Amino acid sequence: MVPPGREIILGVCGGISAYKSADLLRRLQDEGFLVTVIPTQASLNFVGVATWEALSGREVPTNLWNNIFSVPHIQLAKRASLMVIAPATADFLGKMAHGLADDLLSSTYSAMNAPVIVVPAMHPEMWHAPATVESVRLLRSFGVIVIEPEFGRMTGNDIGQGRYPETSVIVQKVNEVLDHKADLKGRRVLISAGGTREPIDAVRYIGNHSSGKQGHALAMAAAFRGAEVELVIANSELPSIEGVVTIPVKTAVAMYEEMTSRVGSADIVIMSAAVADVRPSHQEFGKVSKEKLTSIEVVRNPDIIAELGEKKGENQLFIGFAAETGEGGLERAHAKLRSKNLDLLYFNDVSGGAIFNQEETEGYLLDSAGTEIRIPRISKELLAHQLLDVAASKLGRS
Ligand code: C5P
Repeated sequence: MVPPGREIILGVCGGISAYKSADLLRRLQDEGFLVTVIPTQASLNFVGVATWEALSGREVPTNLWNNIFSVPHIQLAKRASLMVIAPATADFLGKMAHGLADDLLSSTYSAMNAPVIVVPAMHPEMWHAPATVESVRLLRSFGVIVIEPEFGRMTGNDIGQGRYPETSVIVQKVNEVLDHKADLKGRRVLISAGGTREPIDAVRYIGNHSSGKQGHALAMAAAFRGAEVELVIANSELPSIEGVVTIPVKTAVAMYEEMTSRVGSADIVIMSAAVADVRPSHQEFGKVSKEKLTSIEVVRNPDIIAELGEKKGENQLFIGFAAETGEGGLERAHAKLRSKNLDLLYFNDVSGGAIFNQEETEGYLLDSAGTEIRIPRISKELLAHQLLDVAASKLGRS
């Protein structure tokens, strides 16, 4: 699945500056966006499908008439949070301004409800031609955002307004329009999620009610904010997230091994998984008959975060979760934060089956200085962002 707010369509028209959009594509990916490129047929004279496919890592649709049963232009238009057309030629601006929709890019544009940014780039004579000026005026009146071309040298010896702008100008505009901050850009975030299952025999296990929703929401939020995310997830039915490296595991020991091998390169480690504290001391291969199943001998599982916490690097930030029931939960949560050498801990009271497998959460965010922030009932997505707000500001200060 694609996290909401993260998919962008990059339309590329047939201008010599089409190659500059390869850098734009990369920089948008750096911000955490997933970019689908739609090149016009004319643009393929400058940059081919193979380049776009290799750089975007996604299928590159070029033809309105392929896979027609899936109505690709409507699907693309519905999914994307934004469309950027760069470079936009005089010809394409004219088509957009007059509702012509005879190819995949123009049809997708005409079906877009989300914001559209155009980046015209062409010779100054074409930019100042009355028809282009009128197209731009019309497009602005439709709400299309136009980034004016820059002044400077053109192909050949011409000088004037028509150049493709600096990539950073376009990226900044995209972030501004989507109100998006990439404050975890360049950071590696390792997250555990879900509930481990410890096999008793071929059919039974010791497990818990964790759905993995909170860790999944954290992975989406961190990826959206530009982080490189690895998600070690136990026994979850949730869809995998594009752009996030997902490592499915079953048991606590498997989770321990995966977390241990990945922790070294992580800036932020978030342990939201519900790890079974014990596992059966030996696993029966077949199904044990109910007559023989009178008791289960168990051994302790490793406390993953506590063990990783002992070797925590100076610039690493560790975040744990604590699900408690009954009196004194908050005090126990503070004690856990200290004993496991964590920087932050989210505590929630799961008495009566609360929170597990639900869309919302409430609790307290504790830090190593003893601060307690009460979190009222909010979605797990919002909690993910609030946690990352605190984590990003702590990392920024380290
Ligand atoms: O189970 P407990 O309340 O101690 O969990 C607190 C934190 O420790 C959680 O972040 C949980 O994922 C982590 N934990 C762990 N390994 C365990 C048990 C808990 O990493 N065996």
